[in-house]
Amino acid sequence: MTHAVTHPITPDIVQVQLPLPFALRIVNVYLIRDGGGWAVVDTGLHTDEGEAAWRAAFDTLAITPGDLTQIVVTHHHPDHYGMAGWLCEWNKRDIPVRIMARELAMIRQVWWRDDGQREEFSVLSRQAGVGDAMLTSFIAITAQIRARTRPAPVNIETLHDGDVLRIGARTFRVLEAPGHSVGQALLYDEADALLLSADHVLLKITPNVGLWPGSDADPLARFIESLTALRDLPVRLALPGHKALIHDWRGRIDELLHHHDERLALIRAAAQDATAFQVALAIFPFERFTPHEQRFAVAEALAHLEHLRLRGDLQREEHDGVWVYR
Ligand SMILES: [Zn+2]
Repeated sequence: MTHAVTHPITPDIVQVQLPLPFALRIVNVYLIRDGGGWAVVDTGLHTDEGEAAWRAAFDTLAITPGDLTQIVVTHHHPDHYGMAGWLCEWNKRDIPVRIMARELAMIRQVWWRDDGQREEFSVLSRQAGVGDAMLTSFIAITAQIRARTRPAPVNIETLHDGDVLRIGARTFRVLEAPGHSVGQALLYDEADALLLSADHVLLKITPNVGLWPGSDADPLARFIESLTALRDLPVRLALPGHKALIHDWRGRIDELLHHHDERLALIRAAAQDATAFQVALAIFPFERFTPHEQRFAVAEALAHLEHLRLRGDLQREEHDGVWVYR
C-alpha cells in the first residue's frame, strides 16, 4: 500500500511528499487552491510509486480529474518535471504547464531527444577524466531516468523572470534563480512573505551545482550571485523541493555561501595536476555512491574547478582531450 504524505502548510497550500528511487528519497511538491480547483507546483519522477502517491494524495484531498487548473514546473530536473505530462492526462481537462524558457530548452535537449545530449555529455565527461566504463554507466542511468519523464506535456507556456502569476488569492512574482539549474523558477508571494524556493536553498543538504552540457560556463558564479541577491528578500517561510520547511532564509543562505567558500579552498588544494574526476574522488565518498550520485559528484567538482579557473586561481591544460588543473 502506498500512502502519500500530505501536509497542510496554510489554509490554501498543501505539501505532498512523493517517493524517489534515489538516496534523496523524497521530493516535495505543492498544491495551491486556485479558485474552485488546485494548481500544482512540481510533479515528481514518473514511477509506479509516484503515480500511486499522487492518487492517494488526490483521494485524501477529494481532488478528482478536471480539478487541476495549471502546473508550474520549477526546473527541468526529472524529480520536478517528470510527471507533468502524466498529471495533464490524469486531469483529462487541458491545462497549461508553465516552465521557464531556459528550463524548457533543457527539457527539449535532455528529455525529448532520445539520444538527449549523449554526444555533448560524452565529450564533457571525457574532458572531466571519466573513463569509458563509467561513462557507459552514466549514459545508461540517464536513459532510464529519461523514460521516467514521459509522456511529455503538450500545452506548455513559457515563464520569464519578473512574470506575475495569479494562483487563487495569491499573486506570485517569478524569480529566476540560476545555479542548481540554468534558470530555476522561484515563486514569491510578497504580501505573505512566502517563497516556493524549489532546490535553490535546502536544509541539511547543499543544492548540487554542476557543470553539464547546456549550463552556463560558470554555474557556481551564477548560484553565488543569485543567493547573494535573494539574501535580503523578506521571507518568513520558504517551501523547498526537498527536506524540511525553511524558516531562517537568510541564515541558511549564509551557511550555503560559507560552505562553498570552504569547498572552493578544499578543491583548490586538491587540484594539483588533477582531473575533475580525481578531485571528485578526493572530496566525496565516491566509492559509496551509486552511478547516479557519481555523475553529480563529477559535475559538481567540474563546476568548482571551472569557477576557480575562470576567476584566475587555477590553470587548465588539455592532454588527449582530458582537462588537467593545477
Ligand atoms: Zn530536486
